[in-house]
Amino acid sequence: MGTRKPVIGVPANVLMDNHGSFPGTERAYVNQDYLDCLQLAGALPVVLPMVADGPDLQAQLALLDGLLFTGGVDLDPLTYGEEPAPGLEDVYPDMDRHQLPLARRGRAAGLPILGVCRGMQLLNVAFGGTLHQDLGRSGLQHVQKGWRHAPSHSVELLDGLRRLFGQDSLATNSFHHQAVKDLAPGFRVSARARDGVVEGLEALDGSFAIGVQWHPEGMVRQHPEMLLPFQALVRAATGKP
Ligand code: MN
Repeated sequence: MGTRKPVIGVPANVLMDNHGSFPGTERAYVNQDYLDCLQLAGALPVVLPMVADGPDLQAQLALLDGLLFTGGVDLDPLTYGEEPAPGLEDVYPDMDRHQLPLARRGRAAGLPILGVCRGMQLLNVAFGGTLHQDLGRSGLQHVQKGWRHAPSHSVELLDGLRRLFGQDSLATNSFHHQAVKDLAPGFRVSARARDGVVEGLEALDGSFAIGVQWHPEGMVRQHPEMLLPFQALVRAATGKP
């Protein structure tokens, strides 16, 4: 393998573009700031188009040293055994059908995984957890009105995330209306907001599977320590046997 950079797969989101010259066009995309963070951390990111679970998905995994699941639309609640609640927002079930098996098979293959926002929720659902479909207006404000890079609420850090950041709490941004409800078996909560909302999780078995509910990629320019989760992913991907 030599000095090849670790390759981190980033599954594409789907955007229905109803503007411009080609209304109704589906576009596959990843927000640039995730790719910037991976490159800053020393990885070679590759964007993964949606493929069916099967040989093509296995072939995608064979290219990779690690996986990053990004923010995006809500997961289809049917994936965790619930009917859609009134507060559910956009879902794109084809994305779930790609990303859920990618997470399961990727972890089974020993790939380190970082999940951000929807990506953390996806990790939780992939391994047997459930979600609050809509936090509504209770508790803290989790859909902040301020700038994307501005910290909005504090989170208590526990276990692996506390060690990673080297501190007991962190001020984070917050752009989510959903949250982890039942934690997936084999995971623990590693960050929590003051209202009890799960803001981070990690695998218990020592495999690298961590999730953060905030958006470190949106804070990194003003808060360089927010690169730490990406650096940890890339470190784990470098050590892949
Ligand atoms: Mn939050």
